[in-house]
Amino acid sequence: MPLYEYRCDACEHEFEALQKMSDEALVHCPACDEASLRKLVSAAGFRLKGDGWYETDFKSGNKRNIADSGKDSSAK
Ligand SMILES: [Zn+2]
Repeated sequence: MPLYEYRCDACEHEFEALQKMSDEALVHCPACDEASLRKLVSAAGFRLKGDGWYETDFKSGNKRNIADSGKDSSAK
């Protein structure tokens, strides 16, 4: 199971979480409870030497409304 590293944009809390590839990315920070988590791609052992490519990638299209769950009816 891959180890993912998360960082909270709100309080800068960082932690690691074991998740399956199919698991959805975490959103809520366990420290401040803000929905400001960002998944870093580093802890899993493939630390690319290019810096920051994942930041621009992950920021866009990141919906932070976990409140209205259950309406994910996007075509699958
Ligand atoms: Zn936080």
